[in-house]
Amino acid sequence: MSRNAELFERASRSIPGGVNSPVRAFRSVGGTPRFLTRALGPHVWDADDKQYIDYVGSWGPAILGHAHPQVIQAVQEAAVNGLSFGAPSEGEIEIAELLIERLPSMEQVRLVSSGTEATMSAIRLARGFTGRDKLIKFEGCYHGHSDSLLVKAGSGMLALGNPTSAGVPAEFAAHTLVLDYNDLNSVEAAFNAFPDQIACIIVEPIAGNMNLIKPLPGFLEGLRELCTRHGAVLIFDEVMTGFRVGPQGVQGLYDITPDLTTLGKVIGGGMPVGAFGGRKDIMACIAPLGAVYQAGTLSGNPVAVAAGIQTLKLIDKPDFYPRLEAQTIKLVDALEAGAAAAGIPFVADSVGGMFGLYFSESIPTSFAQVTTSDRERFNAFFHGSLAGGVYFAPSAYEAGFVSITHDDDVIEATRAVTDLAFAALR
Ligand code: PMP
Repeated sequence: MSRNAELFERASRSIPGGVNSPVRAFRSVGGTPRFLTRALGPHVWDADDKQYIDYVGSWGPAILGHAHPQVIQAVQEAAVNGLSFGAPSEGEIEIAELLIERLPSMEQVRLVSSGTEATMSAIRLARGFTGRDKLIKFEGCYHGHSDSLLVKAGSGMLALGNPTSAGVPAEFAAHTLVLDYNDLNSVEAAFNAFPDQIACIIVEPIAGNMNLIKPLPGFLEGLRELCTRHGAVLIFDEVMTGFRVGPQGVQGLYDITPDLTTLGKVIGGGMPVGAFGGRKDIMACIAPLGAVYQAGTLSGNPVAVAAGIQTLKLIDKPDFYPRLEAQTIKLVDALEAGAAAAGIPFVADSVGGMFGLYFSESIPTSFAQVTTSDRERFNAFFHGSLAGGVYFAPSAYEAGFVSITHDDDVIEATRAVTDLAFAALR
């Protein structure tokens, strides 16, 4: 028995499903999850000491590659001064200032420890600020696992074929209006159906939790306009896209100013950091200034913040995103060429350091289209690649991630494996 299989069996005795986050269990692709022991640059190693080229990157944070020496050094230096204070420290100001400098929509920001906390808090804040209860989200978008947002969500929920969680009271879900991504008319209709009741729209401005889906021209602009017209708060959930698609997130790419933004993943450089921020008048509603409560024992944790600051500094180079994007495009082109050579219907898309793979004829623009892609083929391709030493996300509904350490040699080594994986699908 492989060491991975042994560990999975052991884990399943003490941990539900053997994992601490559902997608890790390989449920939708089948097979044994790889238990990782270490990671460096573009590579990870499993418990059988097999090396993989990694396109998960801890689901987004590892934009500099794993274990970047300067990030590790920053963590080590911070750790010797104490792991947690529960009192303010200067690093929190520094990272707040870095975020505000980089994202012009963000006038103030508060740190939390995960993306889930960021979106949950932003929603509460939007409700407190507007005095309204309802929110709009889009089917297939995932915003973490707080109650109001676990309705028709994406990511692991989709992989398990169960997009709405048990345990969410119907009364909560009733306040969540779930609409189709890229369908502006339905948003307008919702505002007309519930006048002065909609607190906010929360959206992944480029969706990465139902594979990768880009907004159609006018969609985000329309959301901005409708929120302004109806006095609702526009929340861009950039937990995944922030500092991933470009230096100013999706809001920078499309030049749209949300009222609030949520962040996570890259801003912690691999440590647990999330953040939400935006308009100062809205942020003034949070305790201790205002009546919306939000707090955290480990919020602004000094070690996590040190990793985040170092990461934000290292990616702040003029050639960083052009290089990252070029490597991502090389990967996507290589995959399309491999599929074409094998005669497999397949397309791929990318933005910045993020990509989507679709076993279908054309790039999807809606949740409904994503779910028509060939999952059997994806699963076979996933396992073919994995056996060859290339680790893609273990679900057809997840975006993939490239780091700055995925150089030409790494992409070529990937191609050698994926060409065979595509050929085997014939
Ligand atoms: N929002 C988005 C867009 C995400 O992709 C995720 C996580 N994949 C979250 C929120 C939740 O973040 P976390 O897993 O850190 O709670």
